[in-house]
Parts: sequence; C-alpha cells; structure tokens
Amino acid sequence: MQPWIGVTCSVDDEGYHLGLAYVQAVEQAGGLAAALPCREDVERWISGLRRFDAILLSGGADLDPVYFGEEVTPENGAIQPERDRFELAVARYALSTGKPLLAVCRGMQVLNVAAGGDLYQDIHAQTSSRVQHQQRAPRWYPTHSVRLVKGTRLHRILGVDTIRVNSFHHQAVRRLGEGIVPAAHGPDGIIEAIEVSGHPFAVGVQWHPEHMAMRDAHQRALFAALVAAARRRSDAA
Ligand code: MN
Repeated sequence: MQPWIGVTCSVDDEGYHLGLAYVQAVEQAGGLAAALPCREDVERWISGLRRFDAILLSGGADLDPVYFGEEVTPENGAIQPERDRFELAVARYALSTGKPLLAVCRGMQVLNVAAGGDLYQDIHAQTSSRVQHQQRAPRWYPTHSVRLVKGTRLHRILGVDTIRVNSFHHQAVRRLGEGIVPAAHGPDGIIEAIEVSGHPFAVGVQWHPEHMAMRDAHQRALFAALVAAARRRSDAA
C-alpha cells in the first residue's frame, strides 16, 4: 500500500508551485505525493485532509509575524497571505488529529507558530549568531552541523548524535509552542529541529532534507519514517 502524502505548495500570480525534490523524496520512500494548493476556502480543504495518510508542510517564504503578535521588521521577507492562513490551519489539523506530519524549513516555523510559539524574524538582526544559515553552496550540500537532542524521535530516526545539514533560512524558531520540544540545535544554539510530544509523528526540520535525500542516507531515513507513520495511520483507518 502506497500512502498518500499531501504536500503544501507556494503560490504566485501564475499558480501553485510544488518542488520536484519533495515529490521524488516521498516517492523514493514508497509514498505518493499530492499537491495541496493553498485555496481560500480553507475549511473545505481541511475537511478533505482525512483522505491523506500524512501531511508535509514544505519550505518557502516568510511567515507574517502578525501570527505571533509582532509588527513586521525591515528584515522580514516576502509574505504569502493565503499560504500562511492555509498552512496554519493544516498544521492545527495535524496537531489535533494525530495525522503524521513532516514540516520542512518554513513548515517547521508554521508548526511552531500554530502551536502558539514564535520566531526570530531575522536571525542576524536578533541574535549574535555567526553561522551562515542562508548558504551559497549548492542545495544538496550540507554547510553547517546540528546536534540532535538525545531521546527524541528524530535522534532515533537519524541514529547519530550530530549530522551536517544544508541551510536556507533567515528566520528561526524562538519561543517553543505548547507541546513542542527541541530535537536539534545548530552550533550557534539556533533550534534546527522540533517535534510534538505525545503526537504519533510530528517532526519539523529547519534544513531541506528533500534536496539531500539523493546523496544522504540519513535524510532518506527521515522520509522513510514519515511514510512508515503514514502507513500505520492508513492501516488503522
Ligand atoms: Mn540552519
């Protein structure tokens, strides 16, 4: 049985965009990826999500800081209002139903904000970090290290204490949302992965595993774990 993984999309005037790497990484792990367009009729789409076995919140533009009670700073990037609204609802749905969820980069930030946490609008404006989180190396190439938090699901999945990851973000998780625990930290202390305690499978990573999966068995293990959780969910339904 190939589980269906609903993957959220970015949006512009032309339409919805879903990166090929997500589709390939899900496929390689034995799942089927389907695009979830961020439509305005959010409730209608949320009611259809029960047909999916898992959700993947994909990477993309910056979240509107209004969702964590802040005025926007000059360093905050582009905002896609319909995407913010849609994905926050999808994240809350996954949190409340126990639907397996992998949240990538922006997706991890959406997950944290959906749970009541907040973000740095810009790492370098708001912290003393000297780590480059917007790498200029190729997308598949890992540029900084992360240390996994022992005892977390992610630590078990990856099976190592430290890994090297790619990095394409200037926002980051600051205060953790309710039920959210840190699962990895960068060398500067920035939270690089989170998970939801008590949830069957809800993991967020600040890096882009879909661009590393072709070359890195650890990142393939992450997608395999998502598909396995989706399969368990689908068997139970
Ligand atoms: Mn990073």
